[in-house]
Amino acid sequence: MEYSENILGTIGNTPLIKLNRITAALPCLVIAKYETFNPGNSVKDRMALQMVEDAETSGLLKPGGTIIESTSGNTGMGLALVAIIKGYKMVCVISDKQSKEKVDILRAMGSEVYVCPTNVPPEDPKSYYSTAKRLSEETPNSWYVNQYDNPSNYKAHYLSTGPEIWEQTEGKITHFVVGVGTGGTISGVGTYLKEKNPNIKIWGVDTYGSIFKKYHETGIFDDKEIYPYTTEGIGEDILPKNVHFNIIDGFTKVTDKDAAIYTRRLAKEEAMFLGNSAGAAIKGVLQLANHFTKDDVVVVLFHDHGSRYVGKIFNDEWMKEIGFLE
Ligand code: PMP
Repeated sequence: MEYSENILGTIGNTPLIKLNRITAALPCLVIAKYETFNPGNSVKDRMALQMVEDAETSGLLKPGGTIIESTSGNTGMGLALVAIIKGYKMVCVISDKQSKEKVDILRAMGSEVYVCPTNVPPEDPKSYYSTAKRLSEETPNSWYVNQYDNPSNYKAHYLSTGPEIWEQTEGKITHFVVGVGTGGTISGVGTYLKEKNPNIKIWGVDTYGSIFKKYHETGIFDDKEIYPYTTEGIGEDILPKNVHFNIIDGFTKVTDKDAAIYTRRLAKEEAMFLGNSAGAAIKGVLQLANHFTKDDVVVVLFHDHGSRYVGKIFNDEWMKEIGFLE
């Protein structure tokens, strides 16, 4: 018989899937690392499991403990799965910009959820960073995950996502393109791939309103780059330790409108029902067209599932209200 001991055994080993129509104008092969096949429907299951297991090993997380995290939803979902199987309590702190579906899903999976305002600076006591920190100080036997700076985040992708992509492409990958939030995905995958072949180019996809691109290009933390944006999952107003700028060759910025429109195009043209950052990622690939030649193998990673965005990106009324649709 072949079965997993529990749901955690199904994390990872996701497929690579060729894009056909949306990338038709590009000269090269473009394939997607399709992370919605993880049991929590996002790439974040990988790092959630790694962070918890490393915290158990180091003694930071003890039996019966409470896991606390500030999360845009997907990390919370991954942590919720792990918490249920391993017997921990889960508390998620989320910003009010995130889709309602994400909050509902976390509550469905047994998490306590606190919703905080988006448009306050990280040091504001109401911000989701500050709230998560305070709760972890007030809750006995708790562990604050901190996916932004926790090295197990990057390590999960160095140990699993990176090797999978290398093996699935038989070492033929030439470019990796991915949205950047905490940086765990790009840094773990990028470091692994560059160790295998230093010629592989690693491209980050950033949003307007986030500091990554400017910081990468100038080394300057420019406040003027920071303003509200609608794209979910990528871009930051802080510099997480998990963004290893040295292994990143460049960033391209995608507008909120393009990220939304291309998420819808992935669904209609490729039958790929994916989250908002997938639209940003594929538009990022198209923006980089002049970097690719005919023999290149471009891998783009799609982080999460479309079901979490039915009230927004896939809702015509929402799209019209925000001005993304006529
Ligand atoms: N897309 C989505 C939907 C996400 O939830 C995240 C994580 N914030 C990312 C992209 C970015 O991934 P990472 O944090 O590994 O940089």
